[in-house]
Amino acid sequence: MSNAGTTGTAGTAGAVAGAPEPHALGVDDLPVRDELRGKSPYGAPQLDVAVRLNTNENPYPLPEELVARIAERVTEAARGLNRYPDRDALELRAGLAHYLTRTTGHPVETAGVWAANGSNEVIQQLLQAFGGPGRTALGFEPSYSMHGLIARGTGTGWVSAPRAADYTVDVAAAREAIAENAPDVVFVCTPNNPTGTAVPEETVLAVYEAAQAAKPSLVVVDEAYVEFSHGASLLPLTEGRPHLVVSRTMSKAFGAAGLRLGYLAAHPAVVDAVQLVRLPYHLSAVTQATALAALEHTDTLLRYVERLRAERDRLVAELRAVGCEVTASDANFVQFGSFDGPGGAHAVWQRLLDHGVLVRDNGVPGMLRVTAGTPEENDAFLDAVRAVMKENSR
Ligand code: PMP
Repeated sequence: MSNAGTTGTAGTAGAVAGAPEPHALGVDDLPVRDELRGKSPYGAPQLDVAVRLNTNENPYPLPEELVARIAERVTEAARGLNRYPDRDALELRAGLAHYLTRTTGHPVETAGVWAANGSNEVIQQLLQAFGGPGRTALGFEPSYSMHGLIARGTGTGWVSAPRAADYTVDVAAAREAIAENAPDVVFVCTPNNPTGTAVPEETVLAVYEAAQAAKPSLVVVDEAYVEFSHGASLLPLTEGRPHLVVSRTMSKAFGAAGLRLGYLAAHPAVVDAVQLVRLPYHLSAVTQATALAALEHTDTLLRYVERLRAERDRLVAELRAVGCEVTASDANFVQFGSFDGPGGAHAVWQRLLDHGVLVRDNGVPGMLRVTAGTPEENDAFLDAVRAVMKENSR
């Protein structure tokens, strides 16, 4: 997978460009774990560009009344900062359980919800508890690269099972990959990042059954983008399936990526397992207070979801109209291409950047990913694409 434009450079941590060579020390010069040698950290470039559509954030800032409520809640929390926070985040988990119950129609209890600093931390805790040395996790790629990277960070082996050419998960191929590798953890990302592809319920059920027959293993359904989907959440599937976990985040639909709040819903026994590996007091009192304030304003926060879905559909239609190949999307982003000319997708990424628009090169051959922004940002992006396509056809 290409790292160009997506990550930093391996082996140069601590080295400053232009610094005298004798003092240069890289990661690989340290007694670091073997599997980390020569690797690059995850990270989209945080460039100062007019139109930033590269990290699937919500483009709308939090409404002022919520900002004020956060300030109130955080002030209250600040008065108790001499004490450790509620280690079990019970009030917050109850709020999240209520949100899930209300939006999915499936009754979720507080004991079956867990929260952490972003869904990345949720995934890390799941892999610490259910993966680890001598164990493996499997994902259907291209998908969210952090599944594999967190596996690596937790010493879990990683199996990359391929998606079909149209980026769907082929049931027969999935069954085969699971039977062959008998993974301890299986990730199903739906809607899938970076392709936008939704995975149908029947496919997830087939994956779950195959995973139980092979091991049994934990199946993690990553629903980071589910609020933007045409279909419903797969959370009701957790009923009677104690090895099925649904992970969620407030970073996307809630428009609170800076808050760092992710959560999961599963059988309460899964929450008990995760508590064996979580750091004590992992979720600060400030984070809990802020997330609780955000939950009080759920409807206000989610009001932009409809608008973003409409903008996503417009991006799909307009990209197709200019002759791009576009992957159907259930998320707040769109995968488009196919750029097979000299330099491939990365050359197009650079030219869009030259036009002041930052999108994402996830390393999927020929394809780029754009996040649905405000109508004005999307117009700027579409103008840049049209300009680049015109230059290409010359
Ligand atoms: N899952 C998927 C599929 C994602 O795309 C992301 C963020 N890009 C995450 C999880 C993690 O999000 P966060 O840690 O902000 O909750």
